[in-house]
Amino acid sequence: MATSLLRVPPPQSLLRPLAVPERLLLGPGPSNVPPRILAAGGRQLLGHMHPEVLQVMDEIKAGIQYAFQTQNRLTLAISGTGHCAMEAAFLNLLEHGDTVLVAVNGIWGQRAADIARRLGTLGTARQHRWASPGDGHFPLCFMQGLVRHKPSVLFITHGESSTGVLQPLEGLGKLCHRHGCLLLVDAVASLGGTPIFMDQQEIDVLYSGSQKVLNAPPGSAPISFSNQAREKMLRRKTKPPSFYLDMGWLANYWGCDGEPRRYHHTAPINSFFSLREGLAMLAELGLESSWERHRANCAQLCKGLSDLGLELFVKEEKARLPTITTIRVPEGYDWKDIIAFLMDNHAIEITGGLGPSVGKVLRIGLMGCNSTSGNVDRVLRALRDALGCCRRSRL
Ligand code: PMP
Repeated sequence: MATSLLRVPPPQSLLRPLAVPERLLLGPGPSNVPPRILAAGGRQLLGHMHPEVLQVMDEIKAGIQYAFQTQNRLTLAISGTGHCAMEAAFLNLLEHGDTVLVAVNGIWGQRAADIARRLGTLGTARQHRWASPGDGHFPLCFMQGLVRHKPSVLFITHGESSTGVLQPLEGLGKLCHRHGCLLLVDAVASLGGTPIFMDQQEIDVLYSGSQKVLNAPPGSAPISFSNQAREKMLRRKTKPPSFYLDMGWLANYWGCDGEPRRYHHTAPINSFFSLREGLAMLAELGLESSWERHRANCAQLCKGLSDLGLELFVKEEKARLPTITTIRVPEGYDWKDIIAFLMDNHAIEITGGLGPSVGKVLRIGLMGCNSTSGNVDRVLRALRDALGCCRRSRL
C-alpha cells in the first residue's frame, strides 16, 4: 500500500454536516434573515462584471439613496462590515495632519478615535453627554471643540448600540459647515429603525451595515458621500492608504463617476443579492412604517421590562434607540447567567454590554423583521423565567 505524503489528515469536524441551530437573534445584531433574503443569497453566482450584477448594484445604490434620504451620486455598498465602512470613511476623507473631532459617548466613538489615530490624523476624542435638541445644549456643545481644534471632520454615532442611546443630529450639520468641518455619522445600528435625513440634516458621510434593520447577512455596508466630502477627497495630495477601500476605484466600479466600469475587486455578489432584497423590503414597507414599527415594539418592550421590575438604562424616553434597548443588570443577578439561561432554555440571544457598558447592562435588539409584538412577548416571557431561576443568593 502506497504511503501517503500527507502529514495533516482531513479534519474530522469537516467530515460532519454543518450544524446551524434555530435561534431568535434579539441581540444588538445580527438579526435573523427572513426567507426571501436567504433565498436571494443562495442564488447561483454570476460574474462580478456581468450586466445583471451591475444592474443589481444600481438597484442597491437607489435603495441606499432612499434609506439615507439622499440624492448623492457617490452612494454604494462597501464589501465588508460596518467597521470596514467606518475605516473607508476615515481613510478616504483624511490625510496625515488633518484633525478629527470625535464625539465619544460609547464604544463607537472610542473605535473611531482609534482609527483616526492609526491614520496619523490628530484625532481628538471628546466625551460628550447626550443632549436633546430642545435643551439649548445641543448642538452648541460641539461649538467649543470646533472653534478650538478646527477639525476637518466631526464624527458622531447616531445609534450608540453599546448604551442604547439615540443621538439627535438636528442642526449639527449646519454648525459643522459654518466652521468648515464635514459631518461623518455612523448609523449602523439606527438606519431604518428611526428617522435620519442625510441631505436635509447636511450629513457629509453616512454609513450603515447590512445585518441590523436591513436583515441581510453581515458583509456589505451602505455608504454615501456629499459633494463637499467628494471635493475634499478629490483635493487629496496623497492616495488613500488602502487600495481595497479607495473611493476613487469604488466609485468607478459602482458606476458613480460616469466612466466605463472597471474591475477593482471580485465583489461579494451573493451578499449584494441579499442586500438588494433587504433594501427592497424596506422600500416596500416604506421608511415611515418601518420607523413606526420600531417605535411601537420598543415602547411595548420598555413597558414590559418595567412591569417585570427591570430598570431601563436610558431614562429619557426620547433618548432611547428604538432598535436596541438597554436594561441595568438587576441586583442579585450575574448578567452572564441571564444570557446563558435565555440561550439554553429559550433559544433566544440577548447580550451583555460592550466597551464602557460591559457588566452594567443587558441589550435587547428588535430590528427589521425581528421587531414584532410576538417577539417582544417571547423575550419578556423568557426574561420572567430567567429572573425566577437565575437569582444568586450571594454574588
Ligand atoms: N457602529 C455601530 C453603531 C454598531 O452597532 C456596529 C456593530 N455592532 C458597528 C459600527 C460595527 O459594525 P460591524 O460589526 O458590522 O463591523
